[in-house]
Amino acid sequence: MNEATGSLRDAASVLFNLPGHRVLDAVDHPDGAREVLVGSTATEAACPGCGVLSSRVHQRVRQRLGDVPIAGAVDVVLVRRRFACTEVECDRRTFVEVTDEVPARARLSTRLRQLLLAAVVGSGRVVSEVAAGHRVSWWTVQAVVNAAAERLVDPDDVPVRRLGIDEHRYRSVRFFRDPSTKSWRRYEPWMTTFVDTTTGQVLGVVDGRDSACVAAWLSARSSAWREAVEVVAIDPSAAFRKALREHLPRAAVSVDAFHLVKLANDALTQVRQRVSREQKQRRGRAVDPSWANRRLLLRTGDTLSTRGLARLDAVLRSDDPTDEISAAWAVKEQLRRLLRCGDLAGANHQRLLLTHYVDVAAMPETTRLLATVNTWWDAIEVLIVTGVTNARTEAANTSIKHLKRTGRGYRNPAHYRARILLASAARRAA
Ligand SMILES: [Zn+2]
Repeated sequence: MNEATGSLRDAASVLFNLPGHRVLDAVDHPDGAREVLVGSTATEAACPGCGVLSSRVHQRVRQRLGDVPIAGAVDVVLVRRRFACTEVECDRRTFVEVTDEVPARARLSTRLRQLLLAAVVGSGRVVSEVAAGHRVSWWTVQAVVNAAAERLVDPDDVPVRRLGIDEHRYRSVRFFRDPSTKSWRRYEPWMTTFVDTTTGQVLGVVDGRDSACVAAWLSARSSAWREAVEVVAIDPSAAFRKALREHLPRAAVSVDAFHLVKLANDALTQVRQRVSREQKQRRGRAVDPSWANRRLLLRTGDTLSTRGLARLDAVLRSDDPTDEISAAWAVKEQLRRLLRCGDLAGANHQRLLLTHYVDVAAMPETTRLLATVNTWWDAIEVLIVTGVTNARTEAANTSIKHLKRTGRGYRNPAHYRARILLASAARRAA
C-alpha cells in the first residue's frame, strides 16, 4: 500500500510507509536500539458519540505499537491524540483517534496482523516460530488468529443442502488422575466437524463426538438453515444419528461409503490375524505371505494389475489353509460392489449376494459387518440415490491433521478450532 503519488511526505515517512501516518521523530539509543515515533496525518477526527468532527487536541498519549520490521528491528511508538468533542449536546467529552492501521485499542498495526495471519494460516507456520520472527509474544499471534476466526461467516448465512458430519481425534489419548477418587481417567480429545459437502467449507468444529455436541451445534442454527438441509452424510455412528433424528428430522441420513469400506477392511484384517494365531500360534511376520501382502489384500480388487492379481492368488493359495482370508476378501469386495451401485434395484441385488457370502463364510468378523450394513441399510440407500458422502469432510480432516502436525500438537481446542476454520476459509478463497 502506498500513499498517493506526488504527496509531499518527508523521506522517513515514505520509507516507513504506514498508511495514514507519518514519522514524527526517530531516535538512536546508546544501546543500539532504534525508536520511531509515528502519528496520524489527519488534522481532525469524528467523535464516535455524535459524529461531529473535532480538531481540538485534548491530550497526546504515547503507546508502543507492534509493526512489521522495517530495515531491521525498530521500536515503534505511536503518538495517539485524544480529541475534545466540541458538540455541546454530546455526552462524550473526549475521544481517542483511530485509523485503519491502528483501530481502537489496537496494540498491533493492521499490516502486522495481516502478516502474522498469513504466516500462520496461509503458510501453515508454527505460532511460536511466527511470534519469535516478529518480536511479539506467542499469545499475541494466537489472539490474532482467534480474532480472525471469530470474524468468519456465520454458518446460518451459508445455506447448506448437503451437510457432512465427521469426527476426528485431535491429539493422542491421555490419562489424567482424578484428584477426588485417585483413579486414572482416560481422556480422548475428539472433535466433530461440520462441512458443506458440496463446497468442502468447514462450517463449524465442536468438542467431543457424542450426540449432545452435535445436537448443541445444530440447535444453535436458525430454523431456516435447518429446513434447507436435505441430506446429511455421517459416519456409521449411532450418536450422530440420534442427534439428527431430533434436530434435523426431515433430512435424509446418508452413511459415508469410506467408513463402510473401512469396516470391511477391518473385518478382513481381523480374520487374517485370527487365522495366523490359530494356525501358527503367533502374530503375523514378514515371512508369512498374508502378512507381507496385507496391504495388497486391502486394495480394491478390480484396480489390481494382472501381476497384482497373480500375487494375491499366490498369497491366498499358500497362506490361507482354511479359506477364511479368501472369504473375508470376497465379502469386502462384495460390499465395495454394493456401494458402487447407481440404483436401488442393483444395490438390493448386491445385498442379497453379500448376505449369501457372509452366510457361507460363517465367521464372526463378517457376520458383524453384515449386521452393521443391515442396521444402516436406510442410510446406504440414501447414499446410493444421492451420492452424498463425506469425501469432502475427509479432505478437510486430512488438512486438519496436517495443521495439528505443524502446530506440534494443540493443547487448547479453541486455538485448534480457530486454525481449522481459517485454513478452510483460506483454501476456499484460494
Ligand atoms: Zn461528540
